[in-house]
Amino acid sequence: MKKTAAIIFVLSLYIFASCGCTSVSHKYDKRLMTTLYDYFDTVITIEAMGVSTDVFDEACDEAEAAFKRYHMLFDIYNEYEDINNIATVNRLAGETVTVDPEIINLIELGKYAHELTDGAVNIAMGAVLRIWRDCRIFAQSYPEKAMLPDEGLLLAAAEHCDIENIYVDKRNNTVALKDCDMSLDVGAVGKGYALRKVAEITSKYAGSFMINCGGTVWVKEAKPNGESWVAGITDPLNAEGEFAALVPMTGGALATSGAYIRSFEVNGKEYGHIIDPDTLYPAEGMVSVSVMCNDPAVADILSTACYVFSIEKGESIAEKFEDAGIMWITSDGKTIFSNRFYHI
Ligand code: AMP
Ligand code: MG
Repeated sequence: MKKTAAIIFVLSLYIFASCGCTSVSHKYDKRLMTTLYDYFDTVITIEAMGVSTDVFDEACDEAEAAFKRYHMLFDIYNEYEDINNIATVNRLAGETVTVDPEIINLIELGKYAHELTDGAVNIAMGAVLRIWRDCRIFAQSYPEKAMLPDEGLLLAAAEHCDIENIYVDKRNNTVALKDCDMSLDVGAVGKGYALRKVAEITSKYAGSFMINCGGTVWVKEAKPNGESWVAGITDPLNAEGEFAALVPMTGGALATSGAYIRSFEVNGKEYGHIIDPDTLYPAEGMVSVSVMCNDPAVADILSTACYVFSIEKGESIAEKFEDAGIMWITSDGKTIFSNRFYHI
């Protein structure tokens, strides 16, 4: 959890002087903040200005209830009483499972992500991702015995990653994995989906909010005095912990994918948690990719995809969205910004 919290620290920068905004004193100009530790295997912070403590508490309760619900629905490892979640769908691969409509929507988002990214983001890749995850967990417990997955196992698992084998019946709210050996991993899209929904909930409250769900950030609007919220993007290659960029935000989302967060080492080489479906190995070339755009779900998809892609390919996909900007930190230490990535 600590590691994830390190991805993005949210700072308050007083930039009204440079942007020409006037500072107005506001009834609720105290900065309120709450932190959640129990969802999506990460740290979630909710900050607000321009709201009373009572309203903030109510908004946080509602946001937390939503995060909890999505966490349980999208969990791929644990099942919960009275819920058919993604773990249930995986366990019952081959059978038709009745699910909450939100799971249907998430799977449709996953199918959209697959199409948008030419298959680079594939929620049907659970069989391959599980092998890498097992190696990573083993390496964490026994670093001296860390090893790479067996090539044959990876190739066999890759035979069971066809997204076309996810059958969704929207009318009856059912999902069926037609391949008994396939499984879903929604790690690349679940947080973005949840944050998109929590953003909708929070938007109905007056005041300015900033929510950071493990590196995927959403801002409702500027602070009451016109200042921007500012997200700092950590430079994983900087030993002093300096930020690679500061991003002023007055609305919209910023998602960061960084394999350094969940990686393991074999023979002195780091292996990350974002897998290139073409090679079945961790994508190489980037240490961190951040994408800003209005919709947290799209930002989440694009940051994972651009981690897998070359800079040129990532840029060409992001160009389909007129509000999307990308920041790459490459393994050889270069920080590169696309035209629409606004930063300090
Ligand atoms: P993110 O942090 O949004 O970039 O998502 C990374 C997570 O998505 C990983 O921890 C895996 O659970 C999953 N994942 C890794 N590689 C892929 C991929 N190529 N397609 C879909 N999901 C992936
Ligand atoms: Mg993602």
